[in-house]
Amino acid sequence: MTRAGPSEKQACQSEGCLFPAIAFAQYCWFHLESKGEWLSNLEARILTGQNLGGANLARILFKGIKFGRARLSGADLSGARLIGADFHEADLAAAQLRGCDFRQSSFSRLQGSGANFEGALAAECNFEYAQLADTNFSHTDLRKARFGGASLYRARLDFAILEAADFSTADLSFALMGGAYASTCRFDEADLSRSNLVGTNLEGASFTKANLFYARLGRVRGQGANFSQARLERAVLREADLRNVRLADAELKGAILERAILTGTDLGQVNLDQANISGAVLEEKVPG
Ligand SMILES: [Zn+2]
Repeated sequence: MTRAGPSEKQACQSEGCLFPAIAFAQYCWFHLESKGEWLSNLEARILTGQNLGGANLARILFKGIKFGRARLSGADLSGARLIGADFHEADLAAAQLRGCDFRQSSFSRLQGSGANFEGALAAECNFEYAQLADTNFSHTDLRKARFGGASLYRARLDFAILEAADFSTADLSFALMGGAYASTCRFDEADLSRSNLVGTNLEGASFTKANLFYARLGRVRGQGANFSQARLERAVLREADLRNVRLADAELKGAILERAILTGTDLGQVNLDQANISGAVLEEKVPG
């Protein structure tokens, strides 16, 4: 007897339905009658380590299923509801996760390279030590999410909501974060070299000891951000709003600060060798 693998999509058997059937069923989630039975069946497959790569799990309302170590590379979970889910050490590489509701879920040590989280709700999620190279978080709600120690090399975070998220020690080199809303975000000791943060809101964000070598920060709104001991060598800060920014012991050698606003910012201990500050609004902070 041959059985269809989880990745072979067939049409839902309900008359007139245009959705494909979900994995291990003949119906889409909406038309599936024995939902509870199907969910416990899926849970058993995950527990036994079955490879669910490429499975169609779209638009499913999951409740209380544990996805720890689940093998879901290339699976389609788009539009699924997974609030508070546990995906620790799971494999979601190249998975389709658009528009999922993942609020307060755990993805610690996830393999999520190349996954597509576009437009997902992922506030307060834990992505610590996750592998997220080339992952797409464009327009994703990640407020208060935690990414400590995660690899986000070349990840897309443009127009993401990152308010109060924690990227301390994460690898964000070559990441695309243009237009993101990252106020009060923590990037302490993170690698943001060659990243693109054009137009990003970084008000009150913390970049202590961060590596921003050759990062593009043109037109950022960085009022009150902390760049103490940060490496901003050759960083492009053209027309950036850097009012009341902390730059103690920051390295700005060769940085481009044309037309940047630096009022209220103390440049006393900053290395500005070969930096371009033409047209910048500078004002030494008067002690006392
Ligand atoms: Zn259907």
